[in-house]
Order: sequence, then C-alpha cells, then structure tokens
Amino acid sequence: MIGEVETMDKIKMTTPLVEMDGDEMTRVLWAWIKEKLILPFVDLKTEYYDLGLLHRNETRDQVTIDAANATKRLGVAVKCATITPNRQRMEEYPQLTEMWKSPNGTIRAILDGTAFRAPIVLPMIHPVVKNWEAPITIARHAYGDMYKAVDMVTEEPGTATLTFKGESGAEKTLTVQTVSGPAVWQGQHNTEKSIRAFARSCFQYAINQRQDLWFSTKDTISKVYDGEFKRIFEEEYETTYKVEFERLGLTYFYTLIDDAVARVIRSRGGFIWALKNYDGDVMSDMVATAFGSLAMMTSVLVSPDGTMEFEASHGTVTRHYYKYLKGEKTSTNPIATIFAWSGALRKRGELDGNQELAAFADKLEKATIDTIEGGKMTKDLALMTTLPNPTVLNSRDFILAIREKLEAML
Ligand code: NAP
Ligand code: MG
Repeated sequence: MIGEVETMDKIKMTTPLVEMDGDEMTRVLWAWIKEKLILPFVDLKTEYYDLGLLHRNETRDQVTIDAANATKRLGVAVKCATITPNRQRMEEYPQLTEMWKSPNGTIRAILDGTAFRAPIVLPMIHPVVKNWEAPITIARHAYGDMYKAVDMVTEEPGTATLTFKGESGAEKTLTVQTVSGPAVWQGQHNTEKSIRAFARSCFQYAINQRQDLWFSTKDTISKVYDGEFKRIFEEEYETTYKVEFERLGLTYFYTLIDDAVARVIRSRGGFIWALKNYDGDVMSDMVATAFGSLAMMTSVLVSPDGTMEFEASHGTVTRHYYKYLKGEKTSTNPIATIFAWSGALRKRGELDGNQELAAFADKLEKATIDTIEGGKMTKDLALMTTLPNPTVLNSRDFILAIREKLEAML
C-alpha cells in the first residue's frame, strides 16, 4: 500500500511556508510527522530555519530573527517547540555563549502578534465543563501591564506620586497614595500601539475562524486604564471590522470580566475570548485544563495584517526525550504538532487558492481524529477517554496508524 502512494501524484504547492524546527522530543516527532504524514502526499515547499538551541547559539540567535522576517514575507509559518534556556540549561549545554531569549518572544515582537490558544476537541474526551461542546479559543495580550511593571517596597510613612515627563517638557503628576507605614508599590503601563495591534489581530482571527469575539476587562474599577482597552477595541470594531462581522453574522461582545467568567462556564463554547495579559495567562491555563490535556492545545500567532504562525502549545517534552535517548519508546502525543502542520498547510492553501492543499489539511486532521475514535491513542489520552479498552501506542506507531487512515482517504 505504501508503495502505491509513492507513485501517486503529490499535491503541488506554489508558495513555500516557513518551517521552524525545534528541540528535543518535539524535534523527533517533527521529523516523523513530515516523513510519514506529509512528504508522501505533498510536494512540500518550505523555507527551513533550524531553531534548535545549538543552531540558535551558533548564529547568535540571528536564525530566529531571520525566521520571523521570512514569516512576515511569506505569510504562514509552522514552528516546532523550542527550548528557552534557563540556568539549568546553561549547565546542560556548556557550549551556550548566552542565555538566549525565548524564540516565541522574539518572533512575537517582530510580528507584533497575538497568540491564540485553542483546544482540539475530541468526541470521546469530555471537557470537565459538561456543556462545552466546541473549543474556546483564548487570545492573550502579550505586552505590558504587570509583565513590564516596576515594583518597590517602602518602610516609612510617606507619599508616592506618578509622574510622566513628555518630550515636549510637559509634565503630568498624580498622587498614588499617602501611607502611614510600610507599603508596596507597582507602576504599570501599556501602549496604545500594542493594544491596537492586539485588537486588530483579534478581529482578524475571528473573521478568519468565523467565530464570535468576546473581550472583557475590569473597566468599572479601572476606568481609565482598562477603559482605554475597551475604547480602542470599540474604535477598531466600528471603523474597520463591523461591516465584515455583520456580513458574516458574527458578534463582537464586550462584557465585564466577572460577567464573562460566569458566561464562559455556562456557554457551549465555540468563540474567541480576548483577554488582557494577566487575565489571559490565568484563564488559558484554566480553559486548557478543563478541556483535557496540554498535549491537545494548539497555538496560532496572528499579526494585525493576518500573518499566521502555527505551533503546539506544549514544550519540548524533555522527560520523554531523555527516555527516547536511552532507546526507550515513548508514547508522546504528536497531535498538537500535527495540527500545527495542518493549520499552516490549510492557511497556505487558502492564501494561494490551492483547494487541494486545504483539503489535504482537513483530511490529515480527520485521519488523526478517526484513529483515536478507532481506539488507538497515546497514553495521555488513554488515561482520559471514556472509550472502553483503548489501545495505547507509542508515538511512532500512532503516527503510522494515522498514516493508514490517511491513505485510505486519499
Ligand atoms: P512540556 O514540554 O510541555 O512538558 C511538560 C509535561 O507535560 C511533560 O513532561 C508531559 O508530562 C506533559 N506533556 C506535554 N506535552 C506532551 C505531549 N505532547 N505528549 C504527552 N505528554 C505531554 O513543558 P516543560 O517540561 O515545562 O518544558 C520543556 C521545555 O520546553 C523547556 O525547555 C521550555 O523552555 C520549552 N517550552 C517551549 C515552548 C514552545 O516552544 N512553545 C512552550 C513551553 C515550554 P509527563 O512527563 O507526566 O508525561
Ligand atoms: Mg499561565
């Protein structure tokens, strides 16, 4: 059967997509997914960038910048999980000349993008929240607020003020508080440019996904700060996206964060929920956990012009990689990485008017879901499923089982 496919006409691509390779167990899965599920069927065109830690080190991280710029130029990328070095990694890889920054942070800054995290929903894995039928996608604003704040502790009675000095020489000062004893302080900011880019990415992605967009802040208390977020979103909606939303029958819905939390729990799912940095950090972990498994979360970085980079939300699965290096077979779940590939191929197909390529992406996803529905899955899913007597496969055999389903469809 495999021989027959080799002689089949492969699906042609007109424009390449950007391929960013990565680290550890996900790098191993990456090669298998390409070899078994994509290359036999697609005449794959990619611009390849090796974002593996050692190659980032050799290029002094220039490869990450080049990959991000290529993504801007080509409009679509797929990325493997990568190591963000910390102190422990510096000991593990003594050849590192610097503690290189997070590649995702670098790419996000260059693309001015927002990351959308969505769970892959399977019929036989039931979310903890019973009424969630469709995925809830979380869009987290990834700049500023508490994440770029300055903090201090003071010991004596006194007054803190907040002063802005304009380049023009104009100044604005507010009294934060006068305290009678020890106190703790924090100064936060955000920029209009970043909030606006966030809003645009959210409206763009909602249109692309044909899903409603919810946005929530605490603007009743934070009238000025959160009020700016609310105002900028409204302004973007009214001036740029309203017509398209109405044409597609989509809703832009703003509500207070407390109200949103209650509504999300009672909802059926199937929408995009945009959140400020901290809210998105917390809510994305809650939603991911309630939907099942980190291994089933995908992530798409969307820039305000609609450029997209697809990846799995999980990391490089280090613990499994060390078993793999010892020659053990691991049952690491490749689904989020497969869906990163299918997402990128579908987007490439849409941009190029290449229906065959977009249809292949759909079939790859269906073959993956059908394989699990047929009872074959990785260990993490077997522990969660309501399906009786699931067959637990190692990663490679699971990919081969998907290959069988895929061949039967093509
Ligand atoms: P991780 O790689 O996501 O793994 C954490 C644990 O979650 C694993 O040990 C495993 O649990 C489970 N898991 C995650 N993905 C799985 C999968 N596909 N199949 C089965 N189980 C899965 O997170 P980490 O260990 O904190 O981070 C490892 C490295 O990844 C770090 O160097 C970090 O910098 C990097 N990272 C990269 C990205 C990215 O590139 N987007 C994101 C996050 C982390 P069990 O061990 O219990 O089986
Ligand atoms: Mg978090």
